[in-house]
Amino acid sequence: MTKMKCSYCKNDSIYFAKYFGKYFCKRHLENYLFKKLKRNLHKYHLIQKDDKLLLENLKSPVGTACIHLFTKAIKTWPVKIVQKNENKKINFSTIEDETKNIIENLTNKKIYKTFFQEGKVIKPFRNFSREELFILGVALGSPEKEKIKKTNHPTDSLGTATKLNLIHLWDRILALK
Ligand SMILES: [Zn+2]
Repeated sequence: MTKMKCSYCKNDSIYFAKYFGKYFCKRHLENYLFKKLKRNLHKYHLIQKDDKLLLENLKSPVGTACIHLFTKAIKTWPVKIVQKNENKKINFSTIEDETKNIIENLTNKKIYKTFFQEGKVIKPFRNFSREELFILGVALGSPEKEKIKKTNHPTDSLGTATKLNLIHLWDRILALK
């Protein structure tokens, strides 16, 4: 089988984004995710000047990709990554985690906030799919190669676009409160 080429250059692709029909090589996947992260940080005002940030230390391909993208995104900003006395914690929650929370809240008849920012915790990767972060993490040489766990959750069979719509719908419901 011939490898599909990247939709943006001549390199072989490592990832296909089904929900918008594009192939990505390592460089363009990183570029795409990096721009998306920067957009989230600006649009949702997740980072302010002089912030002290605590990064989760997750040893997995997803953690590797999140830490790599995040530290690169804030490189030139007047903020610090610290081990204690932080004012914000960076959570690596993804589309899949958020969708699971929403379904669990609905079945428990609870309305629990799952916004980009909840108190001290910010979720800059909330609209990222776990798969795209995982593939970037492996391409970046993550020491942990374990597969994404299969869980049998009702949301497992939903596509990324459907999951994103569910998150947007949930945000609108919360905004009405
Ligand atoms: Zn490319």
